[in-house]
Amino acid sequence: MTDHAPQALAAIHQRIENAARQSGRASTSVKLLAVSKTFPADDIRPFYAAGQRAFGENYVQEFAGKVEALADLTGIEWHFIGPLQRNKTRIVAEHAHWVHAIDRLLIAERLSQQRPADLPQLNVCIQVNVSGEDSKSGVSPAEAPALAQAVAALPGLTLRGLMCIPEPTPDLAVLAGQFEQMQALLLHLNSQGLMLDTLSMGMSADLEQAVAHGATLVRIGTALFGARPAKTTA
Ligand SMILES: *Cc1c(COP(=O)(O)O)cnc(C)c1O
Repeated sequence: MTDHAPQALAAIHQRIENAARQSGRASTSVKLLAVSKTFPADDIRPFYAAGQRAFGENYVQEFAGKVEALADLTGIEWHFIGPLQRNKTRIVAEHAHWVHAIDRLLIAERLSQQRPADLPQLNVCIQVNVSGEDSKSGVSPAEAPALAQAVAALPGLTLRGLMCIPEPTPDLAVLAGQFEQMQALLLHLNSQGLMLDTLSMGMSADLEQAVAHGATLVRIGTALFGARPAKTTA
């Protein structure tokens, strides 16, 4: 098998750079998270060798296996981007650098309690259900400020910002509206005294729109690793 990682990474960096330039932003203001979920640990190695450090996983079992299998990769940065159940927080608290999908205080409290004292604070984002779809996790935009204040007060965690998965739609105006709402919400929270620097939004199909509306971290799976086998739990 040929190593497609350097080319795939270069292509995504190019897309980020183009999108950033069009909005008058520095491309360095957008971080790339490589979403490696469903792919075996060994598929991560060529991306690491090509310079990528931040990898995203969203199933706890799989996350734990990869952390162990890739313990030799110094400086690798693990982002847990999936929904977390209360009985599965410990392994994430002990091994992740970031958690993106906080949607209730209980989960943040458990991560806070379980974060080992000798590790740096765990970076967290609150997931906002910006499209209001029933099937999506995340708090409503109206609930976000109260949860953000409560999470920001917890020891062991650093609240970095907000994350969303918008409604998949071919309607660019609808998509833009959702990203804009996220950007406005982040500004609103910062006006209330929080110091949030992260908008985790933008995936393989919509990174340009996300960057145009202030994304600082894009989560890219398919465009780097290829198509995933269909999963029933999303
Ligand atoms: C799978 C996943 C991604 C990556 O999506 P692609 O469309 O493959 O780029 C991003 N964010 C979350 C939360 C995911 O679960």
